[in-house]
Amino acid sequence: MSAASAARRTNPGLDIVVLEATAHVAYGLCGLPYYLSGVVGSADDLFAYPMERFTQDRRIDVRTAAVATELDSTERRVAFRQSGRTHRLSYSSVVVTAGAAPIPLVVPAVAADRTFTVRTLNEAIALRRLLDAGMVRSALVVGAGYIGLEMAEALAARGCSVTVVERLGQVLPNLDPEPAAVVEEHVRQRVDLRLGADATSADLPGFDLAVVSVGVRPVATLAGDAGAETGPAGALVVDAGMRTSLPGVWAAGDCVAPLHRVTGQPAYVPLGTTANKTGRVAGTVAAGGSARFDGIVGTAVVKVFDLEVARTGLTLAEGRAAGLPALATDVVHRSRAKYYPGGSALHVRLVHGRAGRLLGAQMVGGEGAALRIDVLATALHAGMTVSELASLDLAYAPPYSPVYDPILFAAEAAVRQMGPA
Ligand SMILES: Cc1cc2nc3c(=O)[nH]c(=O)nc-3n(C[C@H](O)[C@H](O)[C@H](O)COP(=O)(O)OP(=O)(O)OC[C@H]3O[C@@H](n4cnc5c(N)ncnc54)[C@H](O)[C@@H]3O)c2cc1C
Repeated sequence: MSAASAARRTNPGLDIVVLEATAHVAYGLCGLPYYLSGVVGSADDLFAYPMERFTQDRRIDVRTAAVATELDSTERRVAFRQSGRTHRLSYSSVVVTAGAAPIPLVVPAVAADRTFTVRTLNEAIALRRLLDAGMVRSALVVGAGYIGLEMAEALAARGCSVTVVERLGQVLPNLDPEPAAVVEEHVRQRVDLRLGADATSADLPGFDLAVVSVGVRPVATLAGDAGAETGPAGALVVDAGMRTSLPGVWAAGDCVAPLHRVTGQPAYVPLGTTANKTGRVAGTVAAGGSARFDGIVGTAVVKVFDLEVARTGLTLAEGRAAGLPALATDVVHRSRAKYYPGGSALHVRLVHGRAGRLLGAQMVGGEGAALRIDVLATALHAGMTVSELASLDLAYAPPYSPVYDPILFAAEAAVRQMGPA
């Protein structure tokens, strides 16, 4: 809907059709855990706009329960199924925004109709009905990535006894093991966490419900089968105008791998903020306007019970996998002045090159990580070194930070670790 709305702003005279497989458009998928926990009272609150905003105000022809099945980029035609029939639409430009699909997993400990992936609003509504009816006393969460941990928190908030099973030896695989260990300890105090365990094992006891969150794959087949180039994780490769390799075909959101500014290579990091921005660029350019998406640095933040967990750029493991001579500097600093009540410890890891180029950062703490990470994302966009970071004029007042902000403290430690130039 970002792409369609941008196309309308660019060209008021266009015919714009949106095909959507489900019954709903433009709702906050990211809000589903909070709808399930009850923090968000009603599913209606998740919608960005009422449907009429798109259909009447923006004159977008939105067709729901319409599944695109084939893209013919030579004839510039899309086939789709709706109400049991196949239809065809001709286009001059098409934007593919089919998103990502959860990786399925059969969990023997739970009945199939009680196993959810929490990827659509309909699924979340069905799950919330079970919770509201008091039918879920025990819940199994498979996967300790950010969605799994958000779901563990939501289910625990609803009074369920929660078990989280993760195949790897750490929570949050998109963090390095050291910051992840801080999160692990916090999670262990709140739910039954089993690392290095397999949810497909027959040894697990029964649960009233399972949430499977073991990752997603880009839905790239529509354009991929038509011959569009794919890259990391099988996502569509796009240029800065969100053009695929096929003429007249643009793509955006969770089905694309945009440029990662730190590695200079395409990367698959499916997140809502990128989906919105790339959708807007794709819609603008596809409608004849000009816009650019200059890439991502992999910034993400998640609330895990009472912790703020944030990352940007590359982890140490990712830096080394990319062939960069990466180092890590770890500090623990206060989020507020020592004497000011209410602060907490903030763990900061900076990842940097041997000559000081900032490559990434991770932060975990009771407060202060969520917004501070954006300073580091900005530094990555600017291509700063850790010594440039150490000289930033960051704000200070006792209720908000110590006199040396944790970012400055970490940057100075990194400079010291590298030694004299
Ligand atoms: C529980 C949860 C929490 C999240 N939290 C965050 C967060 O806190 N921060 C963040 O940045 N991101 C978060 N995300 C990720 C974010 O929601 C996604 O990155 C974003 O929704 C991607 O948008 P999209 O439009 O590319 O894909 P989607 O939102 O998946 O939309 C794709 C749409 O295409 C439709 N479709 C697919 N195939 C077809 C077809 N053949 N024909 C017609 N329609 C089709 C689908 O039905 C779907 O409606 C979260 C995701 C989940 C599931």
